[in-house]
Formats: sequence, C-alpha cells, structure tokens
Amino acid sequence: SMIIGILGIQGDIEEHEEMVKKINCTPKRIRTPADLDDIDALIIPGGESTTMGKLMKKYGFIEALKKSDFPILGTCAGMVLLSKGTGREQPLLELMDITIKRNAYGSQRESFEEDIELDGEKVHAVFIRAPIVDKILNDKVKVIAKEGDNIVGVVEGKYMAIAFHPELSDDGYKVYKYFLDNVVGK
Ligand code: GLN
Repeated sequence: SMIIGILGIQGDIEEHEEMVKKINCTPKRIRTPADLDDIDALIIPGGESTTMGKLMKKYGFIEALKKSDFPILGTCAGMVLLSKGTGREQPLLELMDITIKRNAYGSQRESFEEDIELDGEKVHAVFIRAPIVDKILNDKVKVIAKEGDNIVGVVEGKYMAIAFHPELSDDGYKVYKYFLDNVVGK
C-alpha cells in the first residue's frame, strides 16, 4: 500500500497515523530529510508554525521539501507552512500560491467545531487557533472548503491545505480520502 509520511516535528502525530491506516495506507513518521526517500505523499500536521518552520529549516526540511515532488497535505500550521506569506518573518515552504492570515479567529474564538463541506461532502471540522487563506495569488488554486466566508481548504496541483484538524474528528478520515483520491491519485 502507499506510504504516507507524517512530519514528526510537532502536532498530533499518532492521531494522523491512525487516520492514514483508516484509508488503508501505511504511515511513516518522518524525523530527518532522509526519511522522505520512499514516501508517496507527506502530511504536515498542525502545531505552531513559527516554531515548526524554524526546526524544519534547522533540520534541512525546508530545502528538501522545496525540491521534492510528492504530494503534500498541510493541516493548520501545515497550511501556513505551505503558503507564500503571512505578513511576518518566518521560514515557509512557499509551495502554494496563497497568503495566510494566522490566528484568524482571534482570542474570542480560540477553538471551535463546526460542520463544513469539503467539496460538497459534510465533514466535522475542529478549528484550533486556526489560520485562513488571506489571498489566492493564482487561478490554479481551487477552493475546496469554506467556513462562512472564510477560505479554509484549497488544492493547487499536488498540494492541499486545510485550516482545521482532521485527525481530531471521527469523520476526519474523509479529508485524507479526499487527498488520496483527488490529489495523490491525479
Ligand atoms: N495558529 C497556529 C500557527 O499559525 C496554527 C494552529 C494550529 O496548527 N492548530 O502556527
């Protein structure tokens, strides 16, 4: 079966591994750039994107992932890391033509759960200090999920980014399945 790497720097790594098994793929925890060698796709979990980016730079992941050609799913902080900018100084992969507003829901709504639609399919979404897409810089970027008027899911070629935590809801496997069918499988 397909090997899906999960970047093991920060975040709910075990929960992501369980979800990867649910869609009949093999999870692989990625600790160094050499671990990327045999994977078919990569997941970048949520966490704190400034810290994650700094560690990714230190361990050589920024360089390695910029050169890589496997599909990548970024969730929450992972979405931030795939983007081209946040208006602050922080290491980013800059692989997707989007800019991000970090912590877009502010302190009033630090975390919340809501049913949203992922390309027309209902998914329960858990938002934790969630980012949103601020600007789309290219018409190759497809919006696949919205929360109200906010863009919380996008696909561009072999990259997919979502603002919520699919590893934390029972039906979150739908997000991984969507990635597998519509991004990895393309
Ligand atoms: N607000 C965080 C950041 O910008 C992301 C939060 C998360 O991944 N749950 O890094």
